[in-house]
Amino acid sequence: MKPVAIIGAGITGLTAAFYLKRRGVPVTVYEAGERVGGVIQSVRRAGFLAENGPNTILETSPKIAQLVQDAGLASRRLDSDPKAGARYLVRYQRPMEMPGSPLGFLTTRLFTAGAKLAVLREPFVSRRTDGKEESVAGFVKRRLNQEFLDHAIDALVAGVYAGDPYQLSVPQAFPRLAELEARYGSLIKGQILGARERKRRGDVARDRAPKFSFDEGLQVLPDTLAISLGDAVNLNSPVTKLRQTSEGWRVTTANGEIGFGAVIYSGTAYRLAELKIECEAGNPLPAGGAHGVTRPAPQIDLSPFSDIRYPPVASVVLGFRREDVTHPCQGFGMLIPKVEGFRILGTIFSSSLFPNRAPAGHVTLTSYLGGERQPELTLRPAEELLALVREDLRVLLGATGNPVFQHTALYPRAIPQYNLGYGRYRDLMNAIENQAAGLFFAGHYREGVSLGDSIVSGCNIVERVEKFLTAK
Ligand SMILES: Cc1cc2nc3c(=O)[nH]c(=O)nc-3n(C[C@H](O)[C@H](O)[C@H](O)COP(=O)(O)OP(=O)(O)OC[C@H]3O[C@@H](n4cnc5c(N)ncnc54)[C@H](O)[C@@H]3O)c2cc1C
Repeated sequence: MKPVAIIGAGITGLTAAFYLKRRGVPVTVYEAGERVGGVIQSVRRAGFLAENGPNTILETSPKIAQLVQDAGLASRRLDSDPKAGARYLVRYQRPMEMPGSPLGFLTTRLFTAGAKLAVLREPFVSRRTDGKEESVAGFVKRRLNQEFLDHAIDALVAGVYAGDPYQLSVPQAFPRLAELEARYGSLIKGQILGARERKRRGDVARDRAPKFSFDEGLQVLPDTLAISLGDAVNLNSPVTKLRQTSEGWRVTTANGEIGFGAVIYSGTAYRLAELKIECEAGNPLPAGGAHGVTRPAPQIDLSPFSDIRYPPVASVVLGFRREDVTHPCQGFGMLIPKVEGFRILGTIFSSSLFPNRAPAGHVTLTSYLGGERQPELTLRPAEELLALVREDLRVLLGATGNPVFQHTALYPRAIPQYNLGYGRYRDLMNAIENQAAGLFFAGHYREGVSLGDSIVSGCNIVERVEKFLTAK
C-alpha cells in the first residue's frame, strides 16, 4: 500500500501511525515540536511526578485497553486507587463529597431541597422539540434549575473543557445528554435505560469508567508508541502545505516535498488554519476551455478553523508534607464553581489517585487556573500563580506549610471549546474530506476532547484510511 503521512505526534497521530504500521502500511509522522505527546507531558523530579496536562485516561471504550495491550504496556499501567473514588464539589467555601447513590443525593447538604425537587421533577419535564441548538446552561436550567447549573454543572464543565456553560453547545460538547433527552425524554430515565445499551456496545459510562495512567505518568504511552515507530517520527518538522496530485498527496516541510497515498491531519484546529491545502492540481480545464492549459489548483479556505476557541490553562503542581495539609485529600479531587469566588478551577488529588506521585509522607495536588472563566489569570508570572493557588488551597484544604515541590506549566491554547455553532466546523471537515479524497481529519478538535476520545479517533481513522487505500 502507498505510504501515509500523519501530521501531529499527539496521542491521536501516534495511535493512528502505530496501527497503520502494524497493518503493514508505511507511515511517516511529522511533528512540529521537539517532542512527542502533544499536550501530554509528565515530569519526574525530587520523588514527585507532575503532569503538565492530562492526568488520567478514562477507559470508556475497549479500544483504549487494547492500545495499552498492543503497545506492550499492560504491566506499566497504573489503575487509580479504588479508595480514591470520592469527588468533591466546593460549596459554602469548602469541599463537600458528591453523593454516589440516590439516597446519598437525597441526604446531601451539597444541594438545597429546591435542587433535589428539581431532580425528582426532571423525568416529567417535556423534551425540547424545536430542534434548536441549546447551550449547556439553557439545557440545565430548562430540565433542572439555576442552582444545579451554578453549583454543579458550572464546575463540571470547568473540569472537562475549562469552558463556559453559557457558550458550550449540548449536542456538540455533551452529545450523550442531547441523545438521552431525544430518546428517553429524560436524563434520569435515560441513565437507567441507556445502561443496558452501553453494556451491549461494550462502552462504559464516564462516571463508572476505570481511570488509569502509567508508572511514570501518561508520557509513557506516546513515548512507547514513538519508539515502536522508530525513524518514521520526524520531530521539529512542521508541515506547511499539502498538495493533491493525480498520484495522491505531496506534503511540504522545511526539508522539501514528499509524496504519499493519503494524509491524516491530527494536529490542532488553530494550526490547521495556517496550513495551505491545494486540491486536484493539474486538472485539465473543462471541455470547451483552452486545451493543454491547466487551471490553478483550488486552494481550500481553512481560515474558519482559526475561530475555534482554545482558552489558556495553567497547571500548578504542589507537593506538601502530609502533616501540612489538614484535609485527607482522599479521592479524585475537587471542582470549584465560579460562584464560590476562588481562582482555581479544580484540584486533582494526584498522589491519592496514584500513590507513586509523591514520596512517602507527602501529597501532590494538581490545580488548574484560567480557562474561559479567568483567561487573564494565566498571563501572570509563575510566582504569582503559585501564590494564588497556595492561598486557595490554604482556605479549601488547610494546606498551610511551605510546599516542598512546585511546578507550573502554561498551555496558551489548551482545549477546543465545542461552543454553539461548532457543528459548522465539523460540516466543513466533512466537506473537505469529500472534496479532497485521501485527506483525513482526526483528533480532539473533531471527535471529543478527552484522551480516550482521541485514542478512539486515532483507531477509527485507521479503518477509513485503509479502506481508501485498498479501494484505490
Ligand atoms: C491542561 C489539560 C488537561 C487535560 N486533562 C485531561 C485529562 O485528565 N483526561 C483526559 O482524558 N483529557 C485531558 N485533556 C485533553 C487531552 O489531553 C487532549 O484532548 C488530547 O491529548 C489531544 O490529543 P491530540 O493528539 O488530538 O492533540 P495534541 O495533543 O494537541 O497533539 C497535536 C500535535 O500536532 C502537532 N502539530 C500541529 N500542527 C502541526 C503541523 N502543521 N505540522 C506538524 N505537527 C503539527 C502539535 O505540535 C501537537 O504535538 C487535557 C488537556 C489539557 C490541555
